Amino acid sequence: MARWYDRARLPYAVDRKTAEEYATWLRQVPWKLFCTLTFAWKVSDPQADKTFAEFINRLESTLECDVGYVRGDEKRLSGCGKPACGRHFHVLMTSAAPMVPSTVEYLWQGMAGNRSDKAGAHIEPYDASQNGASYVLKFINQVDGNWTFGRLDLFHPELRSVLTLNKRLRRHLRRHEARELHFSQFNPMGSELQLSLDRAISLCNPIATHCERSEPER
Ligand SMILES: [Zn+2]
Repeated sequence: MARWYDRARLPYAVDRKTAEEYATWLRQVPWKLFCTLTFAWKVSDPQADKTFAEFINRLESTLECDVGYVRGDEKRLSGCGKPACGRHFHVLMTSAAPMVPSTVEYLWQGMAGNRSDKAGAHIEPYDASQNGASYVLKFINQVDGNWTFGRLDLFHPELRSVLTLNKRLRRHLRRHEARELHFSQFNPMGSELQLSLDRAISLCNPIATHCERSEPER
C-alpha cells in the first residue's frame, strides 16, 4: 500500500509524466532558438499575451516567414537579469528563415523594455541535447503557469502529416515549403541577415512601441 506521502505526491508524478510526454512530442520540431523573455513593466495576462502576439507578428514581418513557437509562462523571477516584474516566458521558436538571436532580442526589447529598464531577452541557439522542451513546459501544471503554441501545423512533422488540409492551409503550407527550400539553398552569413536586422530596426520605431508600456512597478 502506498504511504501517505507517496499518495500525496502521486498527482505531481502524473502531471510530470504528462508534461514529459508533451515535451517528447515537441522535440520533433526543428527548433532554432531557446528564449527567455522578461518584461520591464508589470503587465496583466491579456497585456502579456498581446505583447507576445505583436512580437511574433513583427518577427514574421522581419523574417518574411511564419514563426512556430511553444511558450511556457511563469510569474515568478527568472534567473535572467533582474526584471522589475517576475513574469517571464520561456519560448522555443523556429522559422524557415535563419533566426539571428540579436534580431529577436532587439525586437522583444523594443516592446517589453530593455536592459536599462531591467528587462530583456536572453536568446540562444536551440541545442537539441539540452532539455529545452521540458524546461518550457515545466510549469504547465501550476496555478501560475500556462503554456501556448503557434503554427505547429507548419513545423511539426507528425502534425503536418495527419492534418486534413483545407485550401487555405494547403496554400499556406506550399508557401512555407517554398521558403524552406529558398533558405536551404542560401548561405545565412550574407546580406540577407543584415536586411533582417534592418527590418527589425525599422519595425522598432518609437511610434510603434508604445503598446504595452505601463507604469514601472514600484
Ligand atoms: Zn523561468
